[in-house]
Amino acid sequence: MKKKIVFISISLFSILVLICIQAFLISRIYKLESEKFDYRYRELVNEAMGKIMVENNSNGLTKSFYVLDRISNDLLIYIKSKKELDTLSFRGFVLKQFYGSINKYQDIDSLLKRYLKKNKVTESFKSYFHIKELRLLNNRIHFSVINGKSDLSLDSLACPTIPQNAIQVNHYLFEGNSFGIDVEYFVDFSHKKKEVLGQIYKSLFITCFSLIIVIGVFLLTLQNLLKERRLSQMKTDFINNMTHELKTPLSTISVASKTLENEQIYSNSEKVLETARIINRQNLQLTRQINHLLEIAKWEKNQFELDKKWVELEPFFKGVIESFKWDCKDKSVVIDEVYSFKCTHAFFDETQITSAIINILNNGVKYNRNQPHLTFKVSTNDYLQISVTDNGIGVNKESTKHIFEKFYRVHTGDIHNVKGLGLGLYYVDQIVKAHSGFVEVISKIEKGSTFTLNIPIDGKNQNTTSRG
Ligand code: ADP
Repeated sequence: MKKKIVFISISLFSILVLICIQAFLISRIYKLESEKFDYRYRELVNEAMGKIMVENNSNGLTKSFYVLDRISNDLLIYIKSKKELDTLSFRGFVLKQFYGSINKYQDIDSLLKRYLKKNKVTESFKSYFHIKELRLLNNRIHFSVINGKSDLSLDSLACPTIPQNAIQVNHYLFEGNSFGIDVEYFVDFSHKKKEVLGQIYKSLFITCFSLIIVIGVFLLTLQNLLKERRLSQMKTDFINNMTHELKTPLSTISVASKTLENEQIYSNSEKVLETARIINRQNLQLTRQINHLLEIAKWEKNQFELDKKWVELEPFFKGVIESFKWDCKDKSVVIDEVYSFKCTHAFFDETQITSAIINILNNGVKYNRNQPHLTFKVSTNDYLQISVTDNGIGVNKESTKHIFEKFYRVHTGDIHNVKGLGLGLYYVDQIVKAHSGFVEVISKIEKGSTFTLNIPIDGKNQNTTSRG
């Protein structure tokens, strides 16, 4: 077990390392492709800018600078008339004026769009200006609004937020009559993410696919390991139970036969008879156990053939209950019977259904700490429904998922004291499935359980020979 835990831990660790490496590689590829995109588009837009300048004899900001010169002039007059104007809010106000006028009167965007369209490159982009440096000046006044160093409080007042993906494509240095400016021009291509992802999608797909396969194989191996562990546990339990089941009658037979060897007993014919009966009963018990195992083995090999017939319901079920009552006449079992038949006959294998019902009824008595009180209900609708409700110890929700598995026994409390091989319900489930039916179970710990066998009435869509 220790080896398995080490194996699982190493595999899990390796998978985590693999995921980290793959994530790192993908992020590197994304970064490289993103840089490639920026480089390509920066070159393209720079080339466009050069051509626009030549073709239009304008850098696209001429009109803005002309307007700003007039605004700066007015601002300088205002500055001259006031004192103590070097405040953050005034500088923010001036910057806002500049940003407003640049955006309003610039025609770089439209010229760039036209150029890109002509060259069949996507024209969907957003542009941003960033004023790095701004001075208002004339012969007498030199007022520095922003001096090239980043000023967070000023930026937050006036500067627009430039997205991280935006590419800086141009840089304008201008000295007018009453102001000097250094302004950067950014372009953000909205299709960048899509294009970059388009470039890396193959690597992304292969990575994800291989990771899914590795994780899938790991989970499958883990599941098999757990299953193997559970099966080995169940096998050990089965061997222990089996030994117990066979040893008990054998030792009783051994004691009884030793008693018969004692000559003194011959004078007491009643005791001889009693001992012979004990041997016979134990022999029957052994035969029943062995036959049960042989039957299960037959199911395993698909050799089992159902012998289905139209069976008259009422006498059949009453007969089953009568024989069960006879079997447990010493145990003071109370059985209520409720029958509700809409039809008189159903198509099934009498012997197999009888043994399935007896199995369920026996369990209701076996797994019970109280005086057993069983309710046996049979009704017919679309299905023939046979249900047994008991007032026993019940099964928890998790175990109800497994009780129909071969060799499964619930591992709690004193249930270990109850004899069994964990094959009864497996057998019941196989019989019902072979009739194209299904078994339902509702159970509550310490309250009891209801097992319902649902079997198609008319035997339609059923195969008569196989395990369903
Ligand atoms: P077994 O031979 O052990 O009785 P079964 O296949 O009949 O095997 O039952 C499997 C397990 O389901 C039992 O070990 C028992 O714990 C649980 N079980 C079955 N029937 C009942 C019931 N009526 N009430 C409580 N537990 C039950």
